[in-house]
Amino acid sequence: MDGRTYAADATAGTEATVAGWVHEIRDLGGIAFLILRDATGKIQVKFEKDEMDDELVETGLDAHRESVVRVTGAVEEEPRAPTGVEITPEEFEVLAGADPELPLDPSGKVDAELPTRLDNRTLDVRKPEVQAIFEIRSAVLGAVRETFRDLGGTEITTPKIVATGTEGGTELFPISYFGREAFMNQSPQLFKQLIAGSNVERVFEIGPIFRAEEHNTPRHLNEATSIDFESAFYDHHEAMDAAEAIVTAAYETVAENCTEQLEALGLAEEFTVPDDDFPRLTYQEALDRVNATGELDETLEWGDDLSTEAEHVLGQEIGGHHFITDWPSEVKPFYIMDYEDDETVSTGFDLSHPRMELVSGGQREHRYDELVAGFEQQGLDPEEFEYYTEMFRFGMPPHAGWGMGAERLLATMLELDNIREAVLFPRDRQRLSP
Ligand code: ATP
Ligand code: MG
Repeated sequence: MDGRTYAADATAGTEATVAGWVHEIRDLGGIAFLILRDATGKIQVKFEKDEMDDELVETGLDAHRESVVRVTGAVEEEPRAPTGVEITPEEFEVLAGADPELPLDPSGKVDAELPTRLDNRTLDVRKPEVQAIFEIRSAVLGAVRETFRDLGGTEITTPKIVATGTEGGTELFPISYFGREAFMNQSPQLFKQLIAGSNVERVFEIGPIFRAEEHNTPRHLNEATSIDFESAFYDHHEAMDAAEAIVTAAYETVAENCTEQLEALGLAEEFTVPDDDFPRLTYQEALDRVNATGELDETLEWGDDLSTEAEHVLGQEIGGHHFITDWPSEVKPFYIMDYEDDETVSTGFDLSHPRMELVSGGQREHRYDELVAGFEQQGLDPEEFEYYTEMFRFGMPPHAGWGMGAERLLATMLELDNIREAVLFPRDRQRLSP
């Protein structure tokens, strides 16, 4: 908008035009204040009723909360105002009125349940602590991209409509593709491997993944954002180094550039960047640590998947981000490589925060015969995956990588109770719009 000044930039001694939402109106009789809010903050607009044009005063004070208005006038110092200045209007225009009945109160004075908030996201994101989450999300994704580029990665985008799922199974959403059955992709796994095997070597993607998770949990979405990484000539240790670099870079960016947002979320005091040497313990060590606490009803044995409860017990024990390595081959997917000297153990790893799993990765099986055998062992038909396996016959280098849930990274970083808080328009069992 021509000549518009942001609330935070309006300086005393100038004439300015500001535009934004009516946050509140305080009518004290002879004098009234309208607080105008925009992306940068709030500014006070002063109405001295006796000294101003009646029509202007009426238009200003009749504007309902959350209406969009434009105000032009002299900016003067006022230490009691939110930004230390106030504006006395010479012109006042309502650009878009708001209904007096709001389904949600953006001033935050009245609490709303998450479903009401998600139904009315436009109003919800007007709250500073909600706006802060999405500004931090943007900063985090920016830092992730920059760090991948520093690591020599090339950003790719791969299809979300696919003929077969990555891991087959029940978590696929089927769709109709010109009369043929197709699916929404669960993960860019197979595609990113195919490109790591090209001369591009090191790739990353930030994009949607679709999972038909049956259950509503605070850490599962049906459409999530996956941060994916894959590199030729990397082993699983180097892949873990990259995951560590990405997580710490995300925290560092937020600590450095998002102080205001952390304040809005009430996290400014306690926010800390984790050390970039996350403990790496083997699956067997993890089982032993959990069993030693005696906090679970049963004793975990080799081959058991770590339940949510077991993950929490371990998280409490370790108290920060940690890798779990050397999983039993049977609980990891077919594309993960097993150890040469013991085929019952895989190079698969997870990176977890005490609250939840953030990353799964590993070194990949790049040998054609072993890969095809792996499909059969997991009850999958290798013929359906020929577009993928064929490429392993033409010089597929050793490679490793991982996938990280962007919303889980944010939910753990910002102590959000529910992962849906980190998504503008979440997709879950009940929610298909907005
Ligand atoms: P979980 O066991 O917690 O359901 P997963 O092991 O099925 O996760 P992976 O297939 O390993 O998930 O996917 C890699 C990463 O993608 C996970 O560590 C997680 O951060 C993220 N992710 C996977 N599924 C979801 C989901 N439904 N909602 C949000 N994030 C997800
Ligand atoms: Mg996993």
